[in-house]
Amino acid sequence: MKNLLIGAHTSAQGGVHHALLEGKEIGATTIQLFTANQKTWHTKPIAEEEVARWEEALAQTGLQKIMSHDSYLINLGSPSAESRDKSLQAFKNELHRCHQLKLDYLNFHPGAALDSSAEECLKQIVESLTQMEDMAASGPTRLLIEATAGQGSSVGHKFEHLGYLIEHLHKKIPIGVCIDTCHIFAAGYDIRTKEGWDQTLKEFDRTVGLKHLYALHLNDSKNPLGSRKDRHAPIGEGEIGIEGFKAIMQNSHLKHLPMYLETPDGVELWKKEIALLKKLAE
Ligand SMILES: [Zn+2]
Ligand SMILES: [Zn+2]
Repeated sequence: MKNLLIGAHTSAQGGVHHALLEGKEIGATTIQLFTANQKTWHTKPIAEEEVARWEEALAQTGLQKIMSHDSYLINLGSPSAESRDKSLQAFKNELHRCHQLKLDYLNFHPGAALDSSAEECLKQIVESLTQMEDMAASGPTRLLIEATAGQGSSVGHKFEHLGYLIEHLHKKIPIGVCIDTCHIFAAGYDIRTKEGWDQTLKEFDRTVGLKHLYALHLNDSKNPLGSRKDRHAPIGEGEIGIEGFKAIMQNSHLKHLPMYLETPDGVELWKKEIALLKKLAE
């Protein structure tokens, strides 16, 4: 089948353009990357020469719908004003780099409530993102809220949470949702079968709206349904199993969305998984 947008979270070590080249190497048609070290607060804009190398590699590889994944440190819903400010600044720096590279999507984890409530956390996230209105409108990048597994105090594991954020933000900033298969399964949505997916998407449409779904992270899950643990397994080798992924590749709402593997082990596994997913789409 043509026009499938399947890739993986490739390595930007040695410069962001490297992530594109690695994508080409594994047979991908799209990729996700970190535009900076995801474990540090202090990040810089991308140097002009590197932006030029990026553009050259983009033309050369023909990859599309490129997605950035934001830093794990950022918590836009933190109950502490100080850490929210720090997070917002880091998020703005990230969005600036996305604009430099003209990326389609910036995927981010919504936030963690810590010692506040999920409701309070969601409100803070709306407030934080509302402060980025002008900046978000000034570039081509759509912000995608990642559905989470619900580990610890993180929000975004209930479709209602995602629905709340979309409802309060979609008229202000370009925003949408990225479903991570491992995460929603761990959060309790049973996607092991076609029927399970039909039910889950019906629920998503009711609470969020299918038109707000822009992308998928494809990961199997090491932990069972509802475990709320975020541990990725290779496609078909976890608790979701191959039928769940076949159902995605055969589903008219899902199969044309960009899909990014975040499975463990890297390039050799991704090559096989991309070929497998293409086959499942036939
Ligand atoms: Zn993910
Ligand atoms: Zn994950």
